[in-house]
Amino acid sequence: MSQTVKANCRFCGYQCGLTATVVEGRVVAVKPDPTQYPGDARIQGGCHRWRLVPEFMDHPKRVNYPLKRVGERGSGKWQRVGWEEALGEIAGKLARLKESFGPETLATCIGGPHAVFWPLHRFMTLFGSPNNVGIGQICWNPGTLINSVTYGWTIDNELDPGLTNCAILWGVNQAESDNSLLWSRIVAYADTGKPLVVIDPRRTRTAERATHWLAPRPGSDAVLALGLLQVVVSEGLYDAQFVRDWCHGFEKLARHVAWYTPEYVQAATGIKAETVAEVARLFARQSPSAIFSGRGIDQIGANSVPTHHAIACLRALTGNLDLKGASHITEMPDFVPELDLELSDQLPERAREKQLGAPKLQSYDAYRRIRRLTLKHGKRLPMRYLTSAQPNLVWRAMLTGRPYPIRALIVMATNPLLTQADSGLLYEALKSLDLLVVLELFQTPTSALADYVLPSAGVLERALFETKAGTSNLIYGGAKAVEPYYERRCDFYFWRDLGRLMGQEEQWPWESFEESLEATLAPTGVSWETFSRFGLYSLPEEYGKHLRVDPATGSRAGFATTTGKVELYSELLAQVGAPPLPSPQVQHPPGGDFPLQLITGARYQPYYASSFRQFEGLRALHPEPWAEVAATTARKLGLKDDSAVWVATRRGKARFRLKVSEMCEETVSLEYGWWYPELPLAGSDPGGLFRSNANVLTDADYETCDPLVGTATYNGIPCACWPCEAGPNAGTRSQTG
Ligand code: SF4
Repeated sequence: MSQTVKANCRFCGYQCGLTATVVEGRVVAVKPDPTQYPGDARIQGGCHRWRLVPEFMDHPKRVNYPLKRVGERGSGKWQRVGWEEALGEIAGKLARLKESFGPETLATCIGGPHAVFWPLHRFMTLFGSPNNVGIGQICWNPGTLINSVTYGWTIDNELDPGLTNCAILWGVNQAESDNSLLWSRIVAYADTGKPLVVIDPRRTRTAERATHWLAPRPGSDAVLALGLLQVVVSEGLYDAQFVRDWCHGFEKLARHVAWYTPEYVQAATGIKAETVAEVARLFARQSPSAIFSGRGIDQIGANSVPTHHAIACLRALTGNLDLKGASHITEMPDFVPELDLELSDQLPERAREKQLGAPKLQSYDAYRRIRRLTLKHGKRLPMRYLTSAQPNLVWRAMLTGRPYPIRALIVMATNPLLTQADSGLLYEALKSLDLLVVLELFQTPTSALADYVLPSAGVLERALFETKAGTSNLIYGGAKAVEPYYERRCDFYFWRDLGRLMGQEEQWPWESFEESLEATLAPTGVSWETFSRFGLYSLPEEYGKHLRVDPATGSRAGFATTTGKVELYSELLAQVGAPPLPSPQVQHPPGGDFPLQLITGARYQPYYASSFRQFEGLRALHPEPWAEVAATTARKLGLKDDSAVWVATRRGKARFRLKVSEMCEETVSLEYGWWYPELPLAGSDPGGLFRSNANVLTDADYETCDPLVGTATYNGIPCACWPCEAGPNAGTRSQTG
């Protein structure tokens, strides 16, 4: 008998509503359901992925049963085992490793969006290891930490076509990275004709909508942001009353940015001085103005945090903080926040001391300082993700045993050999482990090296409970549409059952994932069943919250910072030994054998990160990875559009298909996440891992990472590019000069 049920797509981080037709427990058809948050018919109309749901549910390459390695690591020889057998063996191995090396010998690595993070963190807290490698250093953490030290908490930017009068999208390409609610708002906003500034070295599909497209040289974004501040300050375009009443350190910031005149910025970024001045004036005069900073800034490397920092100052100086149509400071959830689900406060001091690297801001010390301040406003940031381990140091500890040995890794919903910097180093590190467990939907180059591969429940097979990591009072999602096919399981059960086997029984009281969600919702008074029917929990936003009056004292709430004001000059950064004002680092200029600048991380529909290349229908739309260069650069280098090219850095080289595009000159932009599921996974090049993988070329060294958050350098890397027909080793000075 056929049933129609509500469901959610989770083929990207956006998780649109669907209606599924289910026959005897199998999904036979889906269609968009824009009545469910965050629904918008235009989003799904332009998306290829949700249409794949029935094929995805039973794709021949899905992992359906637990697998145990029986040959050499990476040999592709597997034996099907039962869940209980796999869990028992993994628990036994972990117990022995913990006994020999301490709990920090276990690391984890997470991605998304088909996973829930808090059970992993809960297990790791109770196990006693600080070593989770997230994607936070290149996604969310830099902006979240900087906004927290500047404003006392995180913010959400707003783009309201009816209200917002000027918008800047900086390193944001929502047209390709997610077909998200933001993209539909960008399209609606662009239709109004109001100023839309897109800052990106490439003329992306998002940039095509812009009234102003600015293409700074890779890595020069912080200088551009300081230049915008310089114009706002020197021309008196700031909100004088807000600055006087609610900003700390204006004079210091004013002196600091005085150097960054439009002419100086032009020399450093390649953007005309008059354009810098025009954009600064538009942004300051047209309030409410919104400024979004995206992954393009998170991934700059050493200049990621200074760029976010300057943008945070610009937003506040121009009075666009906590202002309708510009941004709002978010609220603590009414429901149980991730911080408590993860039992973060129970992480032993000994484990905190073992944090590898401890960059100045992404550290337990900085977290404690921020928390002391936010607690005055009743707020607590999530801890485990904002203190996650620095990836490069984790890989190095695996290989060298220093400063202590990391001998086991559990990977969940990510393919780090494609998505983390320096794939070569990571490949050697994974091969050296005593235990590698991968929870996945499909076999990947990473799972090819595993001891155990465990089948994850994916789209429609698991309940969805999407929050903003406990920093905002919003949940959306709903019940699963069908029971998982075969022996797939929601990852919650992996962590719960492993925990129960390892002495954590009392901390895992729930019999089902849904029961844990019921408990999470309990403080709101909304049941899981009611929530699933509506699919959304949120409250209306308030603005100008710093002006709230405490009835007991009669004083204003202010901001949760050291001074109670927006800290243009950050006292907290000064306390942790970091520059209190946005201070760009000098970059190594390209030259010699590597005369161009590389940017990695470009995304294109229909793919999402390293996913979906198994689907023939999608491969037909976009069969090969692109290396993009400007027409002038292509001419200079003798590169032809649509020809095969090598791209090389000092790390190695990889092959791409050349695409001549409108973008910064002397720059190569690579599409990331490429591997070839049609190639064998056994052997030394699993799934063609080393052929077209942008992360074969990226730098990961901790010593050159951003010193505040530990972000590796994904952009602005010196590189060379030459035609494949010239030979694999032909390209360097002779090809490029
Ligand atoms: S892939 Fe993303 S944008 Fe497309 S339908 Fe699914 S959740 Fe929505």
